Amino acid sequence: MAKYNQNNCNDIFINATQNIMHEQKEGRGLLFVVSGPSGVGKGTLREKLFKYFKDLTYSVSVTTRAPRKDEKEGEDYYFVSKSVFEQMIKEDNFVEWAIVHDEYKGTPRQLLLKRLRMGLDVILEIDVQGAAQVKNKMPEGIFIFIAPPSWKDLEYRLRNRKTEKKEALEKRLTDAKTEIQCVDNYDYLVINDDINIALKQLESIVIAERCKINVKNLNRKEYIKHD
Ligand code: 5GP
Repeated sequence: MAKYNQNNCNDIFINATQNIMHEQKEGRGLLFVVSGPSGVGKGTLREKLFKYFKDLTYSVSVTTRAPRKDEKEGEDYYFVSKSVFEQMIKEDNFVEWAIVHDEYKGTPRQLLLKRLRMGLDVILEIDVQGAAQVKNKMPEGIFIFIAPPSWKDLEYRLRNRKTEKKEALEKRLTDAKTEIQCVDNYDYLVINDDINIALKQLESIVIAERCKINVKNLNRKEYIKHD
């Protein structure tokens, strides 16, 4: 057995990190990971953000949840059966996946990596379990947590939305309590009290991240033109 010392420990760590990062290293797009409790307004904020940044792309998740009235296949989610989802897990088709409010949800790997390699900035809207997995594999991601101004406010919004039956709604409220505790693992916190202010904050985060000189996987100085 190899003897432990600080040097080989560092090597092992670096090798492991490089392996995990291998696919992503080629990428140039920015990866924005957005989480927050159900009902906090992530969907509305995302829609508005996409109107402002036409070049942002959204990673459509795969789920076993039944579609809601106005949801469209391939736009809101890819809706699949449990057996299909489990087959996709076996085939390692997800960057991350989790059981969220009793249903499978996951981010398809191929399309995400392809977009990042093409230089496209991508937004994932995923729960805290999924975000933790992404942070392990792609620590260069930008992690944003959207929180409600108060617990009461979240409950009011969820009840008013009327998309869930009583039991499912209670589950979402309980899950929200756990999710809010994960805020420390994120880079940014946006409190969605006034939607226009929250949107401005999100836009500012995107702009600031795009202006960084040393984005972890890209030195933007490469783009400075020389006469
Ligand atoms: P909903 O069922 O209301 O569409 O989504 C519920 C929660 O599932 C949201 O808070 C959302 O962040 C999360 N979610 C959606 N897609 C994914 C995914 O691909 N992976 C994970 N881990 N969570 C997701």
